[in-house]
Amino acid sequence: MLIFGSPLIEDDEIQEVVATMRAGWLGTGPKVAAFEKQFCDYVGGGQAVGVNSCTAALHLALVGCGVGPGDEVITTPMTFCATVNAIVHAGATPVLADVDPRTMNIDPRRIEERITSRTRVVLPVHFAGRACDMTTITGLAQKHGLRLVEDCAHSIETTHRGRHVGTFGDYGCYSFYVTKNIITGEGGMVVCSQEKSDRIRILSLHGMDRDAWKRFGGQGYRHYQVVECGFKYNMMDLQAAIGIHQLRRIDQCWQRRRDIWARYQREFADLAIELPAEPDQDSRHAYHLYTILIDGDAAGIDRDRFLEAMTADGIGVGVHYVSLPEHEWYQQRFGWVPTDYPHALRIGRQTVSLPISAKLTDEDVDDVVRGVRKHIAQRSR
Ligand SMILES: *Cc1c(COP(=O)(O)O)cnc(C)c1O
Repeated sequence: MLIFGSPLIEDDEIQEVVATMRAGWLGTGPKVAAFEKQFCDYVGGGQAVGVNSCTAALHLALVGCGVGPGDEVITTPMTFCATVNAIVHAGATPVLADVDPRTMNIDPRRIEERITSRTRVVLPVHFAGRACDMTTITGLAQKHGLRLVEDCAHSIETTHRGRHVGTFGDYGCYSFYVTKNIITGEGGMVVCSQEKSDRIRILSLHGMDRDAWKRFGGQGYRHYQVVECGFKYNMMDLQAAIGIHQLRRIDQCWQRRRDIWARYQREFADLAIELPAEPDQDSRHAYHLYTILIDGDAAGIDRDRFLEAMTADGIGVGVHYVSLPEHEWYQQRFGWVPTDYPHALRIGRQTVSLPISAKLTDEDVDDVVRGVRKHIAQRSR
């Protein structure tokens, strides 16, 4: 079985985890600090705060924006549920703006239509690793006095006009979950200005004014003060031990995924499916997901039967994502109607993600190509 999204783990991080365990400092300490610094240098942001997931990063960012009951946050229906759940947990109301069918990213024109006097934050997701139109979205946020939080769970390597995504807005939120571009098991990062990062750091560890590392670190005993009602979201040195080595190989892994992505584009060009749009000229795509759209009538097999057929052939596939308004909790809580977001609805019903991890061998890629070609009809001339 070719496991979908299986991470590439090498000896360096295994040794570093073992060394961390032997040293005995497992919690938030010098390795988290080093990983934060290196990550921040990579994306070119002000400060980075390591946390235990991107979900936590999003929640902290929204708390940092000061949203609460009565406030609205505009985001995309084509994302993982964590994006919207973080908005709900921050006490605000999520408002959806449909995607552009070509890029599958939130459409700035739809954002503008949804802005009300209650809107506080725009929360774009750089879907599959493709940059949102940050020039337009940043302009919109400025014009309407809105905060900007970027969900960069797919897009550490992504740039828009030469600048890394996650550094356009007030906060950039990244994921190191096992299927993501670099991994720490569970893990995430908030990137923001120095000034904002001080509060995010405090909020990430119970609202205490000094972290445990400094408290117990040789400068004499220091009392802490609880200065806010914070959360338990801090990253551990054990996680950073993995992340430091993953980050060193980030561009190597990106190149491997780019090659696989380009090969799929060539191999599937004659099939009766919709392939992802080519990367945009003014941005760098992170190639996190390779997603095809299957229209059952054209392809000779519908999406769900294709998922079953591939899995039966031993090839793990994914769905990113069934559009959020199709889920019952959101329908009941917010009255969302899937057909109000027709592009996200269609993508959610037709999309399949094929394996694209840097761990894939050329033979694995051959197997995926063969599997897809076996089940999908060719385009009629
Ligand atoms: C994975 C993912 C998240 C959540 O990341 P975790 O680190 O698992 O909390 C949020 N948004 C998107 C778009 C994701 O793909």
